[in-house]
Amino acid sequence: MVKVNGNYLKLKAGYLFPEIGRRVKAFSAANPEAALIRLGIGDVTEPLPLACREAMKTAIDAMGTAEGFHGYGPEQGYAWLREAIAQQDFQSRGCEINADEIFVSDGSKCDSSNILDILGEGNRVAVTDPVYPVYVDSNVMAGRTGDAGAEGRYAGLTYLPISADNNFAAEIPSEPVDLIYLCFPNNPTGAVATRAQLKAWVDYARSHNALILFDAAYEAFIQDPELPHSIFEIEGARECAIEFRSFSKNAGFTGTRCAFTVVPKGLKGTAANGELVELWGLWNRRQSTKFNGVSYIIQRGAEAVYSTAGQAEVKTLVSFYMENASIIRQELTSLGLQIYGGEHAPYVWIKTPNGMDSWGFFDHLLNKANVVGTPGSGFGAAGEGYFRLSAFNSRKNVNEAMARIKSL
Ligand code: PLP
Repeated sequence: MVKVNGNYLKLKAGYLFPEIGRRVKAFSAANPEAALIRLGIGDVTEPLPLACREAMKTAIDAMGTAEGFHGYGPEQGYAWLREAIAQQDFQSRGCEINADEIFVSDGSKCDSSNILDILGEGNRVAVTDPVYPVYVDSNVMAGRTGDAGAEGRYAGLTYLPISADNNFAAEIPSEPVDLIYLCFPNNPTGAVATRAQLKAWVDYARSHNALILFDAAYEAFIQDPELPHSIFEIEGARECAIEFRSFSKNAGFTGTRCAFTVVPKGLKGTAANGELVELWGLWNRRQSTKFNGVSYIIQRGAEAVYSTAGQAEVKTLVSFYMENASIIRQELTSLGLQIYGGEHAPYVWIKTPNGMDSWGFFDHLLNKANVVGTPGSGFGAAGEGYFRLSAFNSRKNVNEAMARIKSL
């Protein structure tokens, strides 16, 4: 009989969101009249920018002509999109990133998991706790961890706790690690990194020959012009970092799918024989073999994000969600709750009141206010006692959710 990948059997109870789905389904079955407001999963709610839709429609029409038809595209993405990204997201901020270092993909969730394909066994891997669960689960699936312990932490991973005690900024590890996952603005805590904090990580990575996997899926939500949007704004990051970006949250492409990964040329790792190997070549090879590119239509839509009209629409979308975050922050603060995040990120991170645990608060809000959020403990043991609310929703739903919570 065919053998299964035993690493999958090490995964704990399942990914967080299926468990939320299970509880919500059970609640809805028992209370079919309840009108739920979902501030749980970080999916966007507002329509795609007109500039993107128009570009996609034009691309569809082109596909209906012999001259404008596009079959397989370059696995790395079309040059015009890679050029726009390199120029507007990086070079305009003083980052030395070239178009051929941009790899367009169908999601940063996939990329941040798939990157393990090109990294070897035996790397000491550091993740924050709480953390975007994909980083941990993809390491488990790839056999880069041991079993989960009682707290749900996997043997072999280095967990860097983040909480109000350290201002949600992980301390640089005291033990040497080879691979570090950083996410700023952070999912789930909503924290953002200063230039000095990122520099400390880059300095650590360079001095330990470590690699930083920098997830900047939420960079568009940064409000303070002094804060860095990219790890490549930090000197030396080209020697030690890969960055993941996405059109999901800034331009509403969660259902449309387009993202990209930046792998600087010259960034190296070591082979088993000690030889230095460029990661760019390995990722290029990986993508060429296992990926066939994002559709022409969608890439044209993503390109329109960089047009003047697209930029204005993205700005409006981001402002809309950040206004939601501000409403959530204000309303919950007025109830005396301890609130974090939500200033440079679409997530508000709440200290659960009265010593309630995360799932207890989840059930409380679900049952009493019919509001769905995300238990902090689902993001890691150190997330226990916290709760995440997402600002991705209509204004009407955000206001209604806050009114219901206030009336409890
Ligand atoms: N990275 C982080 C930190 C996220 O929170 C998410 C989605 O919620 C993603 C990546 C996924 O992005 P994409 O839609 O590009 O796969």
